[in-house]
Amino acid sequence: MKTLATLSDGKTFPAVKAYRKAKRKIARLQRSVSRKVKGSNNRSKAILKLQKAHHRVACIRNDATHKLTTYLAKNHSEVVIEDLKVSGMMKNHRLAQAIADGGFYEFRRQLLYKCQWYGSKLTVVDRFFPSSKTCSHCGHIHKGLKLRSRTFVCPNCGFSSDRDWNAAINLALAGSSPVSACGASNQRSASAGRRRRNRKRTHDVGHVQQ
Ligand SMILES: [Zn+2]
Repeated sequence: MKTLATLSDGKTFPAVKAYRKAKRKIARLQRSVSRKVKGSNNRSKAILKLQKAHHRVACIRNDATHKLTTYLAKNHSEVVIEDLKVSGMMKNHRLAQAIADGGFYEFRRQLLYKCQWYGSKLTVVDRFFPSSKTCSHCGHIHKGLKLRSRTFVCPNCGFSSDRDWNAAINLALAGSSPVSACGASNQRSASAGRRRRNRKRTHDVGHVQQ
């Protein structure tokens, strides 16, 4: 997970490096604990170190989530996110790990109360909406899109963009008053008669890629 979040205006929040480092340290400390004799002093010391490392990871993650949700709720009149179906994604271990690490439910919980604080609207898009597979330029649904491909290339119109950004634009369009925050013309919103002037919009594509 290289990015924590991608917004429809092109802004990205990078994943916190300290977090990955701390995760590796946890794995090392875990091995260290398992090598120590049960009931020994050395084992207690190793467990204490491991607990500290776990706490540090939680703090780093918490800090990143709070910064992101505050930024979103404070600076946008509407925030559109997608409702991630975590259970269905557990089949894909890497994705499940990414979601677990990204703490999607905590992310949504914070957004909900912060949007209320700042008077912005939170829209949660249905989990069956194909945000990643839809071309944000022509509306074509690219069924063959692989989970691992980071770039979206539309087989219909040739539009190409970062996968997460394409999904973020689709979420913006799926919001209550769809606009394309990146300024690209969009045939779907135009044909739906819902073309609006560019207002600042944003969403997160969840930590799937988050
Ligand atoms: Zn297209």
